Amino acid sequence: MKQKILIVEDEPALRETLEYNLSRQGYAVISASDGKAALETARRSRPNLIVLDIMLPYLDGFEVCRILRQEMNVPILMLTARDSEIDRVVGLEMGADDYLTKPFSMRELQARVKALLRRVRLDKEDAESTPAPRAKIYRFGNLRLDVSRREVYLNEKPIRLKPKEFDLLLYLAQHKGQVLSRDRLLEHVWGWDFKGSSRTVDVHIRWLREKIEPVPARPTRLVTVRGAGYRFEG
Ligand code: CA
Repeated sequence: MKQKILIVEDEPALRETLEYNLSRQGYAVISASDGKAALETARRSRPNLIVLDIMLPYLDGFEVCRILRQEMNVPILMLTARDSEIDRVVGLEMGADDYLTKPFSMRELQARVKALLRRVRLDKEDAESTPAPRAKIYRFGNLRLDVSRREVYLNEKPIRLKPKEFDLLLYLAQHKGQVLSRDRLLEHVWGWDFKGSSRTVDVHIRWLREKIEPVPARPTRLVTVRGAGYRFEG
């Protein structure tokens, strides 16, 4: 079955170029030209991936991303006209999975789309191919990570983590007690080709603390090791 991609872009020429190129790559392409239409289309059509422009009428891309994140797990590739660190950090906080700065080549867009879809497929295959008895579950006191379901429970209540928050927590859990540098976390959790900075790691650690620490301001599970990185204490 064809993978479905939703393109959200208000500029007609660029939208049509994106539609044309992605259809030629074999994707089923649908599109929206403003933020409100993007939300409606995404809810109705459940795309496999969303290419989302930031500057849009009615609701901007950040807002669309933030709302969709609470409703579905679709990977989001953001298009930004401004190549600034601020946009990256804000976009990440909203839950975007990757970025492309305008102007970009269609070849680059195709590569990013393919990579994002592949990542999701691998995650899914991983989850499906793990036999039940070997299903990996980590327990740390009142915290439980179910790797195959990609779910985390605190006091047996599910907590909602963004995909990257889960990946980060899992990596930390797999290396319990070790000091992990921000670079190492960036490389293993985000991938070597990710253009973020160590600030990305800090932001995600902060969100994780808010979700799993009894007192987020005085962390006992995810501790900072000054000048070195972070350590998961369990
Ligand atoms: Ca725009």
